[in-house]
Amino acid sequence: MPETSTVTPALEQSLLSTLPTGLLINGEWREASNGGTFTVEDPATGRPLLDIADATSADAMSALDAADSAQKGWARTAPRDRAEMLRRGFELVTERADDFALLMTLEMGKPLAEARGEVTYGAEFLRWFSEEAVRDYGRYLTSPEGKSKILVQRKPVGPCLLITPWNFPLAMASRKVAPAIAAGCTMILKPAKLTPLTSLLFAQVMQEAGLPPGVLNVVASSSASGISGPLMKDSRLRKVSFTGSTPVGRRLLSDAAQNVLRTSMELGGNAPFIVFDDADLDKAVQGAMAAKMRNMGEACTAANRFLVHETVAEQFTAKLAASMGGLTIGRGTNPASAVGPVIDAGAREDIHSLVTAAVEQGATVATGGEPIAGDGYFYPPTVLANVPHHATILQSEIFGPVAPVTTFQTEKEAIELANSSEYGLASYLFTRDHARMLRVAEQIEFGMVGFNSGVISNAAAPFGGVKQSGLGREGGAEGLAEYTTVQYIGIPDPYLDQH
Ligand code: NAD
Repeated sequence: MPETSTVTPALEQSLLSTLPTGLLINGEWREASNGGTFTVEDPATGRPLLDIADATSADAMSALDAADSAQKGWARTAPRDRAEMLRRGFELVTERADDFALLMTLEMGKPLAEARGEVTYGAEFLRWFSEEAVRDYGRYLTSPEGKSKILVQRKPVGPCLLITPWNFPLAMASRKVAPAIAAGCTMILKPAKLTPLTSLLFAQVMQEAGLPPGVLNVVASSSASGISGPLMKDSRLRKVSFTGSTPVGRRLLSDAAQNVLRTSMELGGNAPFIVFDDADLDKAVQGAMAAKMRNMGEACTAANRFLVHETVAEQFTAKLAASMGGLTIGRGTNPASAVGPVIDAGAREDIHSLVTAAVEQGATVATGGEPIAGDGYFYPPTVLANVPHHATILQSEIFGPVAPVTTFQTEKEAIELANSSEYGLASYLFTRDHARMLRVAEQIEFGMVGFNSGVISNAAAPFGGVKQSGLGREGGAEGLAEYTTVQYIGIPDPYLDQH
């Protein structure tokens, strides 16, 4: 891989050497109770970056003790005070944008420009929820028969376990932490073991923003179930918010049932990217590049199936292959790099098996298709043409830079193909016909629809899926409701009629 870079090894070392490496429990950075550590690696080189504390089940319980002790006092703080802490957090993350971006590039692999984009997106959750914190409305109304009043208020749900994936190390954490703070919940954040460093820096910044001890606890661990298992059995925990794969989500839902925990589940996706015959093809290719190549395709919103009208498929595929094939591949710290490595060797093998199987099932390779030899886990942007409808790749979450193109003849067929997946997270429609856009959006079973755009994530919008893509929403007013519980107080006439 090209190594020319304005980010010097000295700069990388100086950032890594200032990071906290412990567990954050009750406002203090601590070692793991058994002194254990684990190593975080750079997927672009396969080399170690840093050793950090490896939380045990006992550490997880200490974090819950802290979250539980802090909960009552935290719930009573003024919404304005919580809003100011979030706002300060937004400012501090923004001031340290370069550090956050470099750290994400180092541990996750995405190109620096994309990492900067994630800092903006991730920080926005802090700003958006600082504004929402003071607008958590209840209601007061007269009962229909006129004999009593109905008072409805929202309260924090209580201590939360927040489990995040490796692909968006800052945004997946801030999308949970910010609404939990706004609502008045305390929390235990368990970041993914592949990319935990960003969460450590984020937690340090949020401490600086004024969070009291015990409100945000962070326990990175090499054993995810060693953390979630005991916590979810303890009745002091009141909620689990999880972002990750559907199989793990299912397991956590089953664990959550034992303790009747509130759950938010942001799970896998298999986004259809539908291009109708009247679409502006250049715009569609531009949208496809964003929806497919952001994060090397390692996004739950990544376009996973390109459903293209048969009359424009050849042209669309040629344009997409030219754009994807022209991208520069390299370590994300290299400013010229537009495509970084995928997260690890296993991920690269999974991606390549799907490509190989698709070719065996009849697809043709328009560009890419072979893993790149050498250091790190690089896979080239790949476009597959003539993918048959039954191909395994169309039913699997690819999580890599591979675009399988298949065709349809009618709008009805496009809708049926789009819906023929167990997932229902993001979808994309490209057409010049607004009536068609609404008609198709009504009929497809997806939590999110992008219209003539390959980018749909926004802190102010409710993000989430249907079917096996999950339960609940993050972002928007809906994102705050996930961290509150509703209390109704019935007030009968005698209390209202004292005079
Ligand atoms: P993953 O399910 O392997 O891991 C996610 C998190 O769960 C990590 O912190 C991991 O340590 C933890 N975990 C793993 N096994 C566990 C267990 N048995 N008990 C408790 N925790 C456990 O997912 P990943 O590989 O980190 O992320 C990729 C997946 O996340 C993809 O399927 C992607 O679609 C999904 N994702 C969804 C969204 C969304 O908003 N819907 C966003 C990003 C990623």
